[in-house]
Amino acid sequence: MAVSIPFVTEPEVDYGAVVEMAPGLRRVVANNPGKFTYRGTGTYIVGQGRVAIVDPGPDDADHIEAVLAAVDDEQVEALLITHTHRDHSPASQAVAEATGAPAYGFGPHPPADDDDGKSEERGDLRFVPDAAVVHGDVVEGPGWSFECLYTPGHISNHIAYRWREAAGVFTGDHIMGWSTTIVPPPDGNMTDYLASLRLLAEYPDDRVYWPTHGPPVNEPHALVEALYAHRLDRERQILECLATGPQTITEMVRVMYADVAPELHEPAARSVLAHLIAMTGDGRVSTDGEATPEAVYYRE
Ligand SMILES: [Zn+2]
Repeated sequence: MAVSIPFVTEPEVDYGAVVEMAPGLRRVVANNPGKFTYRGTGTYIVGQGRVAIVDPGPDDADHIEAVLAAVDDEQVEALLITHTHRDHSPASQAVAEATGAPAYGFGPHPPADDDDGKSEERGDLRFVPDAAVVHGDVVEGPGWSFECLYTPGHISNHIAYRWREAAGVFTGDHIMGWSTTIVPPPDGNMTDYLASLRLLAEYPDDRVYWPTHGPPVNEPHALVEALYAHRLDRERQILECLATGPQTITEMVRVMYADVAPELHEPAARSVLAHLIAMTGDGRVSTDGEATPEAVYYRE
């Protein structure tokens, strides 16, 4: 039986408006809705007077203007970048120039997540953090402090920022309330993604997640458990398919995604590939040579 995931939705947003999401937390949404960005990129402003900005967003003049207007008479102390997809980091350049704030992030765009035309989300090849952060680093300002949670999977340079005073996490694209996260090989890594899901369970007292896309998640642990169970269910389905004999990904997708529209079978195939890379890596599944989209997979 398929796992049911407690998704949360956001019927509409007011682009460019500054909306208070919680005490000391404002959000401005960029007008870049899409199949990977949902209603658009949510840029968060944390604190009052001396603030931090999480994911400044796409290189969009209207959005940058709206974000800068929101912090017009304030001091921006830090730009916190979750990862280098183009809907997250590019605006940091203009916001940094206007405010003098340093940009924090894990590192530049990973070469393996390249623009080969197949990658679902395109990379920001210009971004370089002023301050590189790793797991466990803390970025502090007046009234706020962020613990950096290294959360690879969606992309190898993903950091979630845990706002300790609020017991909440800015989860970027690692956890989104409205959709599962894409884990695109070769840079996207299912083994890492599953470990990054488990990591969040180590903070059971966290009360809310603020993803970059979509509404706040107010029952975060139930969502994380369901997302995890959903991925394990996909692995179980793969093993079931292979119990009938050697198969290609195309054959498995036809069975596993029988109830899903055919136009979604291509992204589904990439997700199955991500699982198979993990499962051939740990020996649960075999293939001759590399785990590729065209390979034949089997169980010994
Ligand atoms: Zn992304």
